[in-house]
Amino acid sequence: MSTVVIIGAGHAAGQAAASLRQDGHDGPIVILGDEPYIPYQRPPLSKQYLSGEQGLDRVYLRPQKFYDDKHIDLRTGVTVDAIDRNARTVHTTAGDTIAWDKLIIATGSRVRRLTAPGSDLAGIHYLRTVTDVDGLRGDIVAGKKLVIVGGGYIGLEVASVAVTAGMEVHVIEMEARILQRVTTPEMSAYYHQLHTSRGVHIHTGMGVLGFTGEKGRVTAVNVPDGSFAADAVLVGIGIIPNVELARDAGLECDNGIVVDDHCRTSDPDIYAIGDCTNHPNPLLGRRLRLESVPNAMEQARVTSGNIMGGDKVYAAIPWFWSDQYELKLQMVGFSADGNQQVLRGDMAANQFAMFYLKDGVVVAADAVNSPKEFMLCKQMIGKAVDATRLGDPTADLKALISA
Ligand code: FAD
Ligand code: NAP
Repeated sequence: MSTVVIIGAGHAAGQAAASLRQDGHDGPIVILGDEPYIPYQRPPLSKQYLSGEQGLDRVYLRPQKFYDDKHIDLRTGVTVDAIDRNARTVHTTAGDTIAWDKLIIATGSRVRRLTAPGSDLAGIHYLRTVTDVDGLRGDIVAGKKLVIVGGGYIGLEVASVAVTAGMEVHVIEMEARILQRVTTPEMSAYYHQLHTSRGVHIHTGMGVLGFTGEKGRVTAVNVPDGSFAADAVLVGIGIIPNVELARDAGLECDNGIVVDDHCRTSDPDIYAIGDCTNHPNPLLGRRLRLESVPNAMEQARVTSGNIMGGDKVYAAIPWFWSDQYELKLQMVGFSADGNQQVLRGDMAANQFAMFYLKDGVVVAADAVNSPKEFMLCKQMIGKAVDATRLGDPTADLKALISA
């Protein structure tokens, strides 16, 4: 009976353990996570958990009973500080040594932190964990001022919750447009207008010089042309993959832990999954480091299949989603890969799909409040379509796919 040890107790880890049992692994499974919680979903943290619509019990991936019933040895509050590849063990900061036959590294990522003067003042928040949200929630107060640094997913999802709760919200984004890392100028402009129409003040092309405080608590965010008064600050300026354990164990790392299309690291008995990996995508013909739940889940399933002796390749077109206000954005593929855009639907009515074509072939799509169309968008990737019919909302999408 081989022992599988999983480092990290996040989305990827929880799914890997569940998939191993589902795939018939009857040996020991040990999950070692440094947070005080059993594996949970991060997406609700900047959405329904922050707004209070969802309690913690609905954020967990599975209840504790699942791990008990499946004899999964889930240990929380445990930090792994070394991997010994020769002895096939991991070592924890508490001094324990745990042996493995197969090891899965699912250490995820951590927030990038600001180092500008005043960055350590109270009232400056980051958002990655349940603990972070529990700290931030008390500062979401109607009538108070929230300054958000970073106009990415975290910044904009929190902006929508905070302005809806009655706060005055300013978003400071260093790039020329919000969501620059993940979408096109047209979609950035759409989201800019949406947030502005709900009362959020967006300042692009602006960096933060530092923070001013009184009695140890932030009162203002300083920018080149002045400052913004702040009762609280949220910083969402991206993440750093947690690769140090792998790197120190001599595993190849390059913008993430380098894995092959079977999720194997440079050591064939060690796999890596989720945010911490840099993997090849055979469908796109290039390497990616993705920060998304579908990626974490699928890499976990593939790894389980391979540990069980299978020959599973991770090959999927990436997809993403974001909830802001009553709008659900769903994205598939990378819009930057296209050289033509086709709009289907009405942006002003907040219900549309934007398709991205490369030489007549669909390579990506962004859908807003159009879940049915999004399912069809996914099926269209890689297909050559008639762009005129694609943009005609009366033309049947299903017929376009079969054509
Ligand atoms: P993580 O979930 O980060 O889990 C890794 C775990 O390993 C962490 O608990 C970490 O503390 C632990 N760990 C690290 N090092 C050690 C160690 N040495 N010893 C023990 N434990 C260790 N994605 C989407 O697709 N859609 C969304 O809407 C979405 N919303 C998001 C909202 C928020 C607020 C955040 C923060 C992320 C969101 N994401 C979303 C991204 C998504 O949550 C991540 O891509 C996903 O959680 C990655 O899973 P993971 O298991 O690789 O990493
Ligand atoms: P992000 O998407 O990388 O966005 C961060 C933004 O902040 C970027 O536009 C970045 O610009 C900008 N920025 C960086 N430094 C700055 C500075 N000093 N001042 C002002 N702006 C600055 O990261 P995030 O929003 O923090 O999200 C963190 C993680 O959570 C990511 O993995 C993300 O995918 C995940 N997440 C996902 C979702 C979702 O999928 N719906 C929701 C929430 C969170 P540069 O690009 O130039 O650095």
